[in-house]
Amino acid sequence: MNIHEYQAKALLRSYGAPVSDGRAVLKAEDAKTAAGQMDGPLWVVKAQIHAGGRGKGHFKEADAGDKGGVRLTKSVEEAAQEAKKMLGRTLVTKQTGPAGKQVNRIYIEDGSGIETEMYLAILVDRQTSRISFVASTEGGMDIEEVAEKTPDLIHTFDVDPATGYQPFHGRGIAFALGLKGPQVKQCVALMGTLYKLFTDKDMEMLEINPLIVTDAGDLKCLDAKMGFDGNAIYRHADIASLRDETEEDPKELAASKYDLNYIALDGEIGCMVNGAGLAMATMDIIKLYGAEPANFLDVGGGATKEKVTEAFKIITSDPQVKGILVNIFGGIMRCDVIAEGVIAAVKEVGLKVPLVVRLEGTNVEKGKEIIRNSGLDVIAADDLKDGAEKIVKAVKG
Ligand code: GDP
Ligand code: MN
Repeated sequence: MNIHEYQAKALLRSYGAPVSDGRAVLKAEDAKTAAGQMDGPLWVVKAQIHAGGRGKGHFKEADAGDKGGVRLTKSVEEAAQEAKKMLGRTLVTKQTGPAGKQVNRIYIEDGSGIETEMYLAILVDRQTSRISFVASTEGGMDIEEVAEKTPDLIHTFDVDPATGYQPFHGRGIAFALGLKGPQVKQCVALMGTLYKLFTDKDMEMLEINPLIVTDAGDLKCLDAKMGFDGNAIYRHADIASLRDETEEDPKELAASKYDLNYIALDGEIGCMVNGAGLAMATMDIIKLYGAEPANFLDVGGGATKEKVTEAFKIITSDPQVKGILVNIFGGIMRCDVIAEGVIAAVKEVGLKVPLVVRLEGTNVEKGKEIIRNSGLDVIAADDLKDGAEKIVKAVKG
């Protein structure tokens, strides 16, 4: 789960990390009052969306102005004007994709004088199974590009879980960032704070890009991106309350309400599968036969008819879906429950695309019989290969 920059900065502030003063606004008429609570001479007006690259982005609507989603302004009035131009408009960045994202919140921040911009992130490194700091002098830029073109400028420091964060980690990072004098001490303290916040809140990712040295020579977090482990959210009511559902894929949101493991993808074949391993295999074999999956969906072991119905509705609600493959190996999950769920869903929402069903395992005969007797136009498949071949053929002709 991701949160907005202004929410991340409030968390940083509450842990004592250096961030600028700022106000979030939802309505254009509140922007002037919010900006007026800061002294200037610089006010930064920042679009709040769950995507980076805002500064270099552009708006779809002409009346939003030709600047990106981060605007430096020199008066309260100008700040209010820029906030008004961005609210409700669609910001397109490298990370939003061409559709862009609607800006529903604005953060007005007390502007900083910048000496240098650096990059800092904390993440869970799957290779070392440890929490790692990633630091680079190349701040404020697209870090993927830095990693590709100048990998030597990216420094990684992993933390032994037995010792946790130690001051030497912070000194190593300070050295890699070329910090001097009192900044080294600030860096050691700040990295400790960030590590504590990261572990306290079960984060997956924390990115400060840029981390800056201000013109006064102090460290400050100028941008903040945080991602939290969805499986641990139940332990953090404070974080859960920051969820902004308007930023999430409506299909994934519906799936999470029914506790379905669903991830939307770019392809044309909707998949309903039980078990994560079988779901992966199903996606692979669809690709092998020359098509692309529209989603990952594991309905789980003990799914009810209602859950299967919801899953099927989510798949059919996706306009990209040109065909559906139901691939069930009934173990704990019974084939007749799947069959009833599919039929209930089709009765409710109709079926406008070809549907291939492959059932195997517990109660398979009962399941097949339910589908046969339903009168639905279902293409039956014998095994995984047969199912994949049939759905790709039905879609691609
Ligand atoms: P992003 O484009 O979504 O990553 O948004 P950022 O918050 O990182 O802002 C983009 C860029 O705007 C930064 O890299 C800075 O160069 C600039 N910027 C943001 N805040 C300030 C500020 O307070 N003062 C100055 N001078 N520049 C800023
Ligand atoms: Mn940034």
